[in-house]
Amino acid sequence: RPSIGERIAGLLGAGRTTEIVRAVSDVSLTVRKGEVVGLVGESGCGKSTLGRIVAGIYTPSDGKVLFDKGPVAREKGRRTDKLTTRIQMVHQDPFSSLNPRMRIGDTVGEGPVAHRIVRARDADAYVANTLERVGLDPSYRRRFPHQFSGGQRQRIAIARALAMKPDLLVLDEPVASLDVSIQAQVLNLFMDLRRDLDLTAIFISHDLGVVRHVSDRVAIMYLGRIVELAPTPELYAAPNHPYTRALFESVPRVGVGRKNFRPIAGEIPSPLHPPAGCHFHPRCPFAGPRCRHEVPALLPVGEGRLSACHLNTGGTG
Ligand code: SF4
Ligand code: MG
Repeated sequence: RPSIGERIAGLLGAGRTTEIVRAVSDVSLTVRKGEVVGLVGESGCGKSTLGRIVAGIYTPSDGKVLFDKGPVAREKGRRTDKLTTRIQMVHQDPFSSLNPRMRIGDTVGEGPVAHRIVRARDADAYVANTLERVGLDPSYRRRFPHQFSGGQRQRIAIARALAMKPDLLVLDEPVASLDVSIQAQVLNLFMDLRRDLDLTAIFISHDLGVVRHVSDRVAIMYLGRIVELAPTPELYAAPNHPYTRALFESVPRVGVGRKNFRPIAGEIPSPLHPPAGCHFHPRCPFAGPRCRHEVPALLPVGEGRLSACHLNTGGTG
């Protein structure tokens, strides 16, 4: 598989609004073509912000997002038309992400027509096809969002994204608001689509079981930084970072459909005022003096694995 893909490099201090200032910092992540990277963390860790930066919805105040070696954001933060089509996002809430006044056919078809992915006269057939791809009856294109369940709406949101023929999909908690049985159906749909269409995706979730199911590699985020990145089987077999280990210990049984983590000891500090040094040090059982003032770098800890912890580089003393 080609390894040239999308590189998300050096994002520093994301954001337009006060709440998301510094939500993400020092993040470097590469997504390869045809790969699904899971992005995991507790709520407020900055994973949605990172997803929105990648999708070009938020503009980083510093740093850059590269796509096929070109920047995603322009100088003034406006994306090129081409990139608007190439990176698509699926949001958590299928109830607010669809325009209630628009028929499904128009919702799914307007982007592809506007960006000349399909001609206007072929749009109806194109939408019918796309709906079938996500397991929906093509006749649904005449209906409005309120006529559908949460699971069906999320399929429609996925159809809208796929209709743009994206090179990269960013899915932000795409099943978190759905019932457990519906979650499994939507995840299985995603797995079928990724196999059939060779999708490249960033899959954001707070749920370790969900991410294990869908991802080739997993990035663990804590307070705006990626603290560990590893191929999925290796990460689940032997997590390296103390935060990752704490996450696994906080989940009694990892499986699809698990709810939130049981909280790890100590409160999550405010992302606006993260602790100095290693952000995790106030909650980490292994913390030493070094952890309080020195930021641990994300460094190789094995084949294709990275972790940001002083325990891997000479200790915490
Ligand atoms: Fe814990 Fe220190 Fe490692 Fe941070 S750097 S995870 S505080 S041991
Ligand atoms: Mg979120």
